Amino acid sequence: MEIYLDNAATTKPLESVIEITNQIMKENYGNPSSLHMMGINAEKIVRDAKKIIANKLNVNENEVYFTSGATESNNTAIFGSVYANKRKGNHIITTEIEHPSVLECFSKLEKEGFDVTYLSVNKEGIIDIEEVKNALTEKTIFVSIMAVNNELGSINPINEVAKLKKNYDFILHTDAVQAFKKIPENIYCNADLISISGHKIHALKGVGALIVKKGIKINPLICGGGQQNNFRSGTENVIGIGSLLKAVENNNDTKKLMELKTRLKEGLESDKIKINCYNNGNSAPHILSATFVGKRGEVILHSLEAEGIYVSTGSACHSNKFGESHVLKAIGLPKDEIGATIRFSFGEFNTIEDIDKTIEIIKKLKI
Ligand code: PMP
Repeated sequence: MEIYLDNAATTKPLESVIEITNQIMKENYGNPSSLHMMGINAEKIVRDAKKIIANKLNVNENEVYFTSGATESNNTAIFGSVYANKRKGNHIITTEIEHPSVLECFSKLEKEGFDVTYLSVNKEGIIDIEEVKNALTEKTIFVSIMAVNNELGSINPINEVAKLKKNYDFILHTDAVQAFKKIPENIYCNADLISISGHKIHALKGVGALIVKKGIKINPLICGGGQQNNFRSGTENVIGIGSLLKAVENNNDTKKLMELKTRLKEGLESDKIKINCYNNGNSAPHILSATFVGKRGEVILHSLEAEGIYVSTGSACHSNKFGESHVLKAIGLPKDEIGATIRFSFGEFNTIEDIDKTIEIIKKLKI
């Protein structure tokens, strides 16, 4: 038996993704910059993928740039715009609960002398728009706030923050890796820069995109042959981009994901198992954070693994680097509860039966 409940770490590729990647490798392996038919066919995949992503996010296809994943998208968004606009001011803003691919960039900029504000979150893992307003100054050039947190599933009001651009001249970036295709785009699509990743939506690892809205002043991070309008050099990863095309085309069943989340929450919640940041269902449908009071997360993870159920403690990205989760700390969990927290995350392949079996096994193991 295999019940994969770690979809926020990565997802299994869709059948249509496997098909197109095979087809590209076998037949459509041209370089999109080549002038012959093979190049034109490869370029069509890149163009089609841009179109479908642009359509989904209500942006222009010229505003979509492919990257090697969201880590590169986040690095490009942050360094690219902060360095390009540093004459205008040296104040930048982010939150305490960002992914390391954002936080580490801010920490580097802080060491270089930029003045950084780290916004706090409430116990539901959400920023306070008043705190953003209070933090903004004439010197603020850049704000980066994630749309959905990868450990909690909490949703931030990105389009509300975008409205503050009326009064302040800053670039707004959102890491939408866990939001894309999971929550309505109109919650976050007004950001100037949007990062997405392929492998969280059943496409391949090593491919992602950065949306750069027209008029945003941003420097490229990777220079070379001038591909993608000179913004992101390097031969396009056509296989990865083709996989993104198919994954974005797929009609995600977010209603089903929410049903799975709610069922697991209701099956687990008790005196001994606390659910974090469910926020009356106003949270992303694919992530459920649960604290098993008095237990150790790793022990639970491995007990479940022995039964064929795959989950995470905190998030896969920093289980070894940061030690204790900075996200769980930011929502105010005490140290022992941080170590007792498990993230269950759902995807297109999960079923109600997976959830019922998981609840049954957790009860059987008395964890
Ligand atoms: N941001 C968030 C919120 C994520 O969950 C992840 C993946 N763990 C990333 C960024 C990095 O994405 P990638 O693996 O595509 O570099």
